[in-house]
Amino acid sequence: MLTLFLISIYIQDSLREYFFNQKGVELLTRANIIANIMPRYIQYSDEGIQEAVKQLEIDKSIRVIITDKEAKVLFDTAENNNLKDKVFLKEEVMKALQGNDVQNHFEEAGWVVNAAVPIIKEKETTGVIYLSASAQDIENFLNDIKKKLYGIALIVSVLIGLLSSFLAGVITAPVEELIAVIKHMADGNLNQKVEVKGNDEIAQLGIAFNKMSERLNQVEEKRRQFVSDASHELRTPLSSIKVLTESILQMQHPDMEVVQEFLSDIYNEVNRLSRIIDKLLMLTKTDVAINGLDLKDVNMRELLQRVVKSLRPLADHQRIKLKLKGSEDIFVLIDEDKIWEAIFNIVDNSIKYTSHEGTVVVSMHKSGFNVEIIVQDNGIGIAETEIQKIFDRFYRVDKARARETGGTGLGLSIALDAVRLHGGDIQVESEEGKGSRFRIIIPHRET
Ligand code: ADP
Repeated sequence: MLTLFLISIYIQDSLREYFFNQKGVELLTRANIIANIMPRYIQYSDEGIQEAVKQLEIDKSIRVIITDKEAKVLFDTAENNNLKDKVFLKEEVMKALQGNDVQNHFEEAGWVVNAAVPIIKEKETTGVIYLSASAQDIENFLNDIKKKLYGIALIVSVLIGLLSSFLAGVITAPVEELIAVIKHMADGNLNQKVEVKGNDEIAQLGIAFNKMSERLNQVEEKRRQFVSDASHELRTPLSSIKVLTESILQMQHPDMEVVQEFLSDIYNEVNRLSRIIDKLLMLTKTDVAINGLDLKDVNMRELLQRVVKSLRPLADHQRIKLKLKGSEDIFVLIDEDKIWEAIFNIVDNSIKYTSHEGTVVVSMHKSGFNVEIIVQDNGIGIAETEIQKIFDRFYRVDKARARETGGTGLGLSIALDAVRLHGGDIQVESEEGKGSRFRIIIPHRET
């Protein structure tokens, strides 16, 4: 609006200047014509001058004043306020008496344009021709233009206003829809999607939001599953403890031997519970550790030696040969506790799921940018259909056997989480009845 307003003021001023100049030039030309013929009449009577002005067909609206060289008015066409015989001390007249052509315009009860030229006779200024005309016609024309310009400015402003509010609506509507969906999500309704139209930034935002929502749902579903699995796993030993304790309490004359047996079962179940809880705590730790790895430069050979050393008693107890191959020092930047736990769980499994007199071999080598730790056993192996599932939380191929061996179904899940946190992976090759081979791959970051 302001720009249009300023432009219209500028246009009006320019036009006024142009038209007034035009009118001024026109008056000057007329004044000059009169000044040229006037010397012939100037010494004659009023009637003579009147005759001359008449002959020139000067418009009635133009006031003609003729003065002598003392600025005394010899002739004035004005009917009101006629200046005849008075001294006309106007600035323009004074300048004309000095030999200049002058034109001027000013506002004085309406716009007026005037021009004054000297009358020269035999190189001497003998008087002045002064013409004055109203410029009201120009003013009326300019006022008309002003009204039109303001009208156009108003229409353009309204159109711009309508267009911008329409465009603002087009842009903000999808954002508002997104905000509404996000609020809905914040209220706890996680399963939210927005409709994506087009391919602009807003559409990209919608796609990103939908992906985030999908991921959130998956995480929420996993969390629910985990809580339900964990409760189930904890309930089984608790139920056993409950039944065993009730049985003891209901005994009228308890037989110490039976009580001892029941107590030993209760003890085993309590141990199992505590193992599950330990592992659950471990899992929550890896869940929150995404940015919190305590990285250190660790000699993997020494770490493997320690794992093997702590599992040696179990292996000996099961009469399993536990071997460590490779004596090369390989330093890797890792969170020692987490990788120790991962390797421990896998070697522990190999011992648990290998029958007496079997062999478990742990070895290590560099492979490209990675370090690979291989745990190979000749135990019961895993069916091909089960291999994908063994990393799931609480999954055990043979529940009965897992109970015997004290398995919780959490060991491999913890191991995989820990290795993935380091940017690595665990791969399994196995054949039922023949044995399994676990490859723990850890990126070899140089220090
Ligand atoms: P668990 O505490 O039961 O050992 P894991 O998560 O460590 O839980 O392992 C999941 C399942 O994978 C085990 O119950 C077992 O059935 C199978 N498994 C793991 N390692 C081996 C192995 N070396 N040989 C055969 N089966 C294995």
